[in-house]
Amino acid sequence: MPTRKRLFVGLICSSLLLVLGLVGLVFYLLANRDLYWNQILLVVIGVVLAGILIVVAFGVGGIILTLWSARTIPPLQGLTRVAINLMYPVAIGLGKLLRIGSNVIQSSFVEVNNQMVRAKALRVPSNKILLLAPHCLQRTECPHKITIDVQNCKRCELCTISALIELAERYGAKLAVATGGTFARRFVEQYRPRAIVAIACERDLSSGILDTNPLPVLGVLNQRPHGPCMDTGVDLEQVEKAILYFIGLPAPLPRKEDSRPKRVSGKGGAANAFLG
Ligand code: SF4
Repeated sequence: MPTRKRLFVGLICSSLLLVLGLVGLVFYLLANRDLYWNQILLVVIGVVLAGILIVVAFGVGGIILTLWSARTIPPLQGLTRVAINLMYPVAIGLGKLLRIGSNVIQSSFVEVNNQMVRAKALRVPSNKILLLAPHCLQRTECPHKITIDVQNCKRCELCTISALIELAERYGAKLAVATGGTFARRFVEQYRPRAIVAIACERDLSSGILDTNPLPVLGVLNQRPHGPCMDTGVDLEQVEKAILYFIGLPAPLPRKEDSRPKRVSGKGGAANAFLG
């Protein structure tokens, strides 16, 4: 078996042995409660488990209180983070058992996250906001390498990328188009934003939110009229509202004088604009 596979298989086998060992230890301790050291060990295990339970209970309580009051509860913020990281995989697993689609749970998680971010009443300078868009927003036939530099887009308006560039320019935010999670993480490291407006599908948004925690991320779900990962779209109003929230502006800024390169007219029309 190649080394990389051996590592993962080795780790899951070790994890299984660890859990079996712990269960066996608890059974042994319960069966021999009369021994002094066993009683101490049982108490230690009980205290650790109770500690985890208390942290999760306070964390979940913090989430519910934040959603209910629409205000963040500062002393519980750390605990809510821990609770989300611990309970998210459990919620997904439970949802599968109850035959609730992962997409539905992930979309609900994104909603909860967005409301919790909004409850923080943050104010972020516009140049510290990263607008992170997925590559699938770009029209499939477009030959321009916008993932290397988004300014390679010729703004032909055949996909949403041109409108996102306009939005980012109008508000002074950074814009990056990522082909996947690895590139998204690279952009986050490169731009070091203080807040992110992320566009993606349910799965990528929820994993991105968990990955970048505690960085505040407002997630906007993409629209997939042609199926997943192809010629997707996004509600630009929602993207703009997310930017406005972080900047702290009550209303949208007017669009600037149109400085885009003019569309190519004549035979072939807008499609010729692909050629730059
Ligand atoms: S050149 Fe046109 S199709 Fe290509 S990314 Fe820009 S707006 Fe989209």
